[in-house]
Amino acid sequence: MCIFCRIASGELPASVVYEDERTIVFLDIQPINPGHVLVVPKTHAESLADLSPEDAGQMMRVGQMMDQALRQSQLHCEGVNLFLADGKAAGQEVGHVHLHVFPRFEGDDFSLNLESFDRSTPGREQLNETAKKLKQAVDSL
Ligand code: 5GP
Ligand code: ZN
Repeated sequence: MCIFCRIASGELPASVVYEDERTIVFLDIQPINPGHVLVVPKTHAESLADLSPEDAGQMMRVGQMMDQALRQSQLHCEGVNLFLADGKAAGQEVGHVHLHVFPRFEGDDFSLNLESFDRSTPGREQLNETAKKLKQAVDSL
């Protein structure tokens, strides 16, 4: 059993914040900021595509609820990031899908580097070419 399945089954300890039929929410042991939680579907699935639509939907609904809870809590929270690493190349370290939800505030020094990352500005033709490839994939799902 994977580490998150062992937490979900109660075999390993975790600081649990919320639980329902499909999901469990607990604190990340290495929080980006205090209140950093992981929304974890109880059924094991490694990647997002392996999740049932019901589990994927519930993970997002619970993520929305945790966003609201963080904002209304006594924890320092001026904004919230939701983050999901799908695959090793995307930064996934634990092979059981999970949604990170963590509070943000001015001066917390965390950055997703979207601003500093050198992003190109492709022309319309190139954008349309990329969109075409993606549309083909969507149509064949
Ligand atoms: P990933 O990089 O896969 O998106 O994130 C995995 C997250 O799980 C990391 O933020 C890490 O701190 C957290 N984590 C890893 N092992 C444990 C654990 O045993 N318990 C808890 N609560 N969090 C863990
Ligand atoms: Zn698992």
